Amino acid sequence: MLKIAGMQKLTLLDYPEHVAADLFLAGCNFRCPFCQNSPLVLSPGDLPAYEQEEVLSFLRKRQGILDGICITGGEPTLYADLPELIALIRDMGYLVKLDTNGTNPDMLRALLAGHMLDYVAVDLKAGRANYARVAGLNEDVSIDLDGGGSAGFDGGGSTDFDDSASTDFGGDGSTDFGGNASTDFDGGASTDFGGGASTGFDGGASRDLNQSASIDGHREEHPAKCYAKHKVAGDLLARVSQTVELLLHSDIDYEFRTTVVKGLHDSSDFVDIANWVAGCKHYYLQSFRDCDEILLRDHPFSAFSEAQMQEFLSIVRKKIPHAQLRGVS
Ligand code: SF4
Repeated sequence: MLKIAGMQKLTLLDYPEHVAADLFLAGCNFRCPFCQNSPLVLSPGDLPAYEQEEVLSFLRKRQGILDGICITGGEPTLYADLPELIALIRDMGYLVKLDTNGTNPDMLRALLAGHMLDYVAVDLKAGRANYARVAGLNEDVSIDLDGGGSAGFDGGGSTDFDDSASTDFGGDGSTDFGGNASTDFDGGASTDFGGGASTGFDGGASRDLNQSASIDGHREEHPAKCYAKHKVAGDLLARVSQTVELLLHSDIDYEFRTTVVKGLHDSSDFVDIANWVAGCKHYYLQSFRDCDEILLRDHPFSAFSEAQMQEFLSIVRKKIPHAQLRGVS
């Protein structure tokens, strides 16, 4: 069942040119190490939930004051009952903006077909060769949002997110990012996001996170498991690509955006993104901002300088002339 774990009652920033409120839905199928909402991602079951009626009652009181509602997360499209919530919000006359990581194109397609959205914002994490790494996906993915397995994708098949294990990325817990047993990422030097290992995120030597079975010289891994990891990451990227295509050919107002992180991105990411979404309506490069809730503890990440951001922007503008920086001072 859909879980609203946070609400920002007023925002002038999150819905372009509108006064809005944010609803934060718990849970995500990505593990971006720079994520600023790690409690929503790593321990959604521990967060208190708003009663849906409490939220709807608040929205009724704000009718005529707020223009729109941003539905964000986490990843809202993990919830099969998201369209029902959106319908209730729209019935009150609100515009609806959906923030998504793009991994559920089927739901997005249905929402667009039903004219249930007014604006869609899709995070493009990185260039496609770097995607699994920046989305934290080069390990096994099995997600359970509420411990009951009721809120996964409907899709089934080899990328079933309705798994019973709770966000265990497959490992021995030696690089636990979440501070509790249920949020372990796989361990060992090969998956160290921050540390001194040569394949860590501070490195440079190894940007190819599709090599998870081989980059650790000390660990043997069963080929089937390795294949499963690659397949999950590949399937999710394929879904993001479907979302990109969907929006590029849709009439809805939308934006693509990338949070640019020193330690994860370089110019090759922006060459690829520019080719990938060439001709899109809106594309923004936004700067990484540090906070206490970054998903990767003791992370090595920082923001690029404004000059470096301008350099990335100039790369992107070769294919997307109206691309802009956001939040860069
Ligand atoms: S930044 Fe990544 S991990 Fe965090 S909510 Fe967005 S998609 Fe999920």
